[in-house]
Amino acid sequence: MTCDIPSASCERTQVWVDAYLSNELNPETTAEVSDHLRRCRECKEDFRSRQQIRNRLQRVVSHSEVPIGLRRRVCRMVRSFAERSPVFLSDLE
Ligand SMILES: [Zn+2]
Repeated sequence: MTCDIPSASCERTQVWVDAYLSNELNPETTAEVSDHLRRCRECKEDFRSRQQIRNRLQRVVSHSEVPIGLRRRVCRMVRSFAERSPVFLSDLE
């Protein structure tokens, strides 16, 4: 350990950090975790990397969400195209 904080509180922070990122902790625990992150470099680095992964995931998820209107239009187009040319459907299989 590079910090003088008891390792037990590092372990607690590791357990809570995901919930902390999701704002799922009660105010006391949130304060405890953020206090620990301010003082402990190791946990802070871990927190940062988790935060980055989380942000990246959120970006991917938000990009893959298709507006419902567009989705319906694409489905309609595909269906009408498939009805007109049955070859298209067999090509997909
Ligand atoms: Zn720590």
